[in-house]
This record gives sequence, C-alpha cells and structure tokens, in this order.
Amino acid sequence: MKSSRRTFLISSIGVASALAVSRTAFADPVKLPESDSMAQSLGYKLDATTVDKAKFPRYAAGQDCGNCSFYQGKATDAFAGCPMFAGKQVASKGWCNAYNKKA
Ligand code: SF4
Repeated sequence: MKSSRRTFLISSIGVASALAVSRTAFADPVKLPESDSMAQSLGYKLDATTVDKAKFPRYAAGQDCGNCSFYQGKATDAFAGCPMFAGKQVASKGWCNAYNKKA
C-alpha cells in the first residue's frame, strides 16, 4: 500500500515535470525588447527607420531584418528568430548593426 502510494506520487511528479517542460517548449517566443543589453550594444531597433545613424553609420535606408541573411523567418513573418539574439524574435521591420544583406 505504502509502496503504491509512493509510486503514484513519483509518477505524478514526473507527469507534472513533463507538462512544465512541454509548456515551456511551446510557449510563444519572446520578442526582443530594444532595452535588452545585447540589443542596445548592436543598436537593435524594432523600426529600422529609427536607427541612430550617427551612432550606427552602417545603416542604410531600405535595410531591415526582413531582408537580412540572418533572419530566420519568411519575408511575410512579422517576427522571427535571429542567431544574434538566441531564443528571442526580432521584428521583420527591425535592424541591428550585424545586418548582412540577403543574397
Ligand atoms: S542580424 Fe539581421 S536579422 Fe538579426 S537583428 Fe540584426 S538586422 Fe535583424
């Protein structure tokens, strides 16, 4: 009796842990905020047209995440992953100093 109760408790904990892990795995990816320290060091902006051109002279009009080779989404995706900011999503209309024109 005691053993089956322990088995039940242990398997309940296992199920709860598995659910917690799967909920994390399927949670919406976090959108990269401009306030993120890495985002600030790379001059990331949600709207490329607001890039500080004096501070980031590599920026040129027409460049944005959507036409950057690092953008992991389709051209029509408003947000997608970028290896510069692992685990977060960047805006298709955004920009950062690691921009590299898609071939
Ligand atoms: S590397 Fe490219 S896709 Fe990633 S944030 Fe910078 S401009 Fe956007």
